[in-house]
Amino acid sequence: MVFIVTAAGAFQGKWKIHDKDRSLPPVIKPGTGSGPALPPADAIVLFNGKNLSQWEDSKGKPARWKVKNDYMEVVKKTGSIRTIRKFGDCQLHIEWSTPLPALGKGQARGNSGVFLMDLYEVQVLDCYNNQTYADGMAGAIYGQHPPLVNACRPPGKWQSFDIIFHRPLFDNKGSLTQPALMSILHNGVLIQDNAELTGPTAWKKRPPYKFHPDKLPISLQDHGNPVRYRNIWIRKL
Ligand code: MG
Repeated sequence: MVFIVTAAGAFQGKWKIHDKDRSLPPVIKPGTGSGPALPPADAIVLFNGKNLSQWEDSKGKPARWKVKNDYMEVVKKTGSIRTIRKFGDCQLHIEWSTPLPALGKGQARGNSGVFLMDLYEVQVLDCYNNQTYADGMAGAIYGQHPPLVNACRPPGKWQSFDIIFHRPLFDNKGSLTQPALMSILHNGVLIQDNAELTGPTAWKKRPPYKFHPDKLPISLQDHGNPVRYRNIWIRKL
């Protein structure tokens, strides 16, 4: 058993990072609904299937992912992309689909990710009959919180995340006063219930919070797999 104290001094549980002993959530079959086909009237549309005008690469150059039909697709080695606009507290709707046929296994199968504020990753992964560590599953807050259930659809099918995010708060000296909070519906099923983040997400470590601005871009990860995204919209809270 390992006890970890965050920068906020909060107790964060007994699990080691990517702990193989951490039990896997139950598999459930989601319903057929996957969120509204059309964004609500007050949403900012970040991707409507036509172009990447709202996105740039991590150096601020035009995003080079492929746009086809109504979706965008990760192009390996072009890097992660991020929104040109910046956001803090928000409700984010995003639909994604992992490659069919499914290739690779574990973390190498349909890996991508949705980063709130470019720092806090909600894992995108093909977790349909594909086992990996609990805190790295689809819908996990990577390295921190496994999803409550595994509500994945098969590869090639469209799936949705509806994410409610509250950014961390810092005092005027830059010290953390309130950790970030996230709730997530995956294919309409609650998989994160007001989860408290320990800091930015990372591989094999849980770095502490570091002061950052109130608003930062949403980013999508190039993990080398041709994951697709469509129908992305956001509402500021
Ligand atoms: Mg990822």
